[in-house]
Amino acid sequence: MATKYNYKQALHNPIFEIISKAAQEIGVDSYVIGGFVRDFILERDSKKDIDIVAVGSGIELALKVSELLPRKPKVQVFKTYGTAMLRFQDIDIEFVGARKESYHFESRNPVVENGTLEDDQNRRDFTINALALSLSKDNFGALLDPFNGLEDLKSKIIKTPLDPDITFSDDPLRMMRGIRFATQLNFDIEEKSLASITKNAERIKIISGERIVEELNKILSTDKPSIGFLLLYKTGLLDIILPELTALNQVEEIEGHTHKNNFYHTLEVVDNICPNTEDVWLRWAALLHDIGKAPTKRFNKKQGWTFHGHEFLGGKMVKRIFERLHMPLNQKMKFVQKMVIMSSRPIVLAQDTVTDSAVRRLVFDAGQDVDNLMTLCEADITTKNPSKFKKYHSNFDIVRKKIIEVEERDHVRQFQPPITGEEIMEMFNLKPSREIGILKETIKEAILEGEIPNEYEAAYELLMKRAAKLGLTPVSK
Ligand code: ATP
Ligand code: MG
Repeated sequence: MATKYNYKQALHNPIFEIISKAAQEIGVDSYVIGGFVRDFILERDSKKDIDIVAVGSGIELALKVSELLPRKPKVQVFKTYGTAMLRFQDIDIEFVGARKESYHFESRNPVVENGTLEDDQNRRDFTINALALSLSKDNFGALLDPFNGLEDLKSKIIKTPLDPDITFSDDPLRMMRGIRFATQLNFDIEEKSLASITKNAERIKIISGERIVEELNKILSTDKPSIGFLLLYKTGLLDIILPELTALNQVEEIEGHTHKNNFYHTLEVVDNICPNTEDVWLRWAALLHDIGKAPTKRFNKKQGWTFHGHEFLGGKMVKRIFERLHMPLNQKMKFVQKMVIMSSRPIVLAQDTVTDSAVRRLVFDAGQDVDNLMTLCEADITTKNPSKFKKYHSNFDIVRKKIIEVEERDHVRQFQPPITGEEIMEMFNLKPSREIGILKETIKEAILEGEIPNEYEAAYELLMKRAAKLGLTPVSK
């Protein structure tokens, strides 16, 4: 962690001198605030954005800064918010006038008035996000830290600057942000703040799905998302946002038969997958892969607990969740659905002797997503029985090898039939009909079963045999 003597190092980029000069010219004080300062002290790779507060007009300051820059970059002005943004090198710099906010209970849109730097720091979400560095000539680089954010950074604490009930009730999104920062930074949420999240959890309902998902995506993008999901669970937020997940948190016992707790299992799967993929959608698939288990759970004396059809129902539930949270209903959603629906396929395969034809079918059905599916299924192995664990993993290694072999030989990943429907129609002078479907299916099945290679000659021979059985004769050329 950086010591308190070298904050000027944080301001080595020439842009800060320019902002300082611009602020002086228009007669306002200005400060760098929030994430940039926090991440500098934490020696964390700072994201490419910088927030500047002007005690006066943020828009005016931004325009002045642009004027002083050699290329006079365009300033984007958001009049309704009183903010402005410009791009310097590849950094987004946002300017805002210091403000004082007060909220109405029903909305997160505040009534905004101009304020002092301290008013502005008061309205920030956490003490560690309220740190400011002065850009004024006389105390350039001085740290302004009215809430002891520096101490909280050192002791890894997330804490609101004001009474947490006020901070969270004013803008309930901050509850999600707090949990997100706790996950990203591996910090603890101070007890009073955590209790207040629990108390105010219901208020999350006034926040749009998009903003909630933005935070969920950031939690899912960390190395250990379970930290965040456990906090969301503990505070009651998860029950409101994703009740399908909390429904998995139960273990029942009938006649000595129990089943695993699928909520904790799911969180383990999500953590497991993180070292193997950065793809947030595959991580979503890990999070949702078992959601069909709560509604499909049954008990019978013969088999014990079953979850028949949970993958298929899970796939349907994915769509409902995406709709409810206003997530994109595009290819990404389809991908997550597909992963959930297929999530048991490789496991079933790896429990037994791995046959070529089963692998070929898996590759055919999963297509280009087969590697992602394997990554998901490997993460799904959470058994605490070491010999089972070893067996599954070594079987998965076999599956992976076979996927490559089968693909090299039969090209079923993006399956193109060796003889097309059009060709068959021409050969027998047929219109689109049931027979064409049967003939195409026969060829495809034979290839997937490994009875014939994915080649024209072999397919032609089989086609002629099957056609004869259907009473079809080829037109002579
Ligand atoms: P990161 O950019 O890494 O997500 P950040 O802290 O920079 O983290 P931003 O969303 O970029 O977060 O916001 C910049 C600053 O604005 C924060 O540090 C915080 O001071 C303040 N802030 C952002 N959102 C809120 C909010 N909902 N309530 C109060 N303050 C907020
Ligand atoms: Mg930021």
